[in-house]
Amino acid sequence: MTFPKRSARSIIRTIFSKPVSEATKGPPPIKPPSATSVDIRGSMQLRHVDAGSCNGCELEIASAFGPTYDAPRYGARLVASPRHADGLLITGVVTRNMHGPLVRALAATPQPHVVIACGDCAVNGGMFADAYGVALRLDQIVEPDIRIEGCPPHPNEIIAAFRSLTEL
Ligand code: SF4
Repeated sequence: MTFPKRSARSIIRTIFSKPVSEATKGPPPIKPPSATSVDIRGSMQLRHVDAGSCNGCELEIASAFGPTYDAPRYGARLVASPRHADGLLITGVVTRNMHGPLVRALAATPQPHVVIACGDCAVNGGMFADAYGVALRLDQIVEPDIRIEGCPPHPNEIIAAFRSLTEL
């Protein structure tokens, strides 16, 4: 494979003429407290469950927990087991393959717990609502306490939802 040759001057001009990173917009505003009865002010451990996502939401969640948006600064952390979690962060439609694992993850999360639907697919089925592989909508299995709309939601929206629970 051959690559087009570019002069050093051309490369330097490209580097200094284009922004290489997205500008931060500062911390998002705090939304009013949610309706959930779970008191997780200050610290919230979440188990993420991909119930059938296209992975677009996962990219934004990864960004929300990355150094730019820094969800841990607002008390939100991801944990490896639902048994160690205050709630579930659920993305995607509920596919046939993930229906059982999602129900088991819900059962393994200590009560009371919070359920966060992240992205349009988890909120209402989104663009895959009528797809062959879909078992149910998330709200036919469990009523989410928090709904983060968007396809995918912006990291600021994800952070704002976390802050409505941790109040940080
Ligand atoms: S809401 Fe959009 S980005 Fe998120 S899983 Fe569904 S289709 Fe993908």
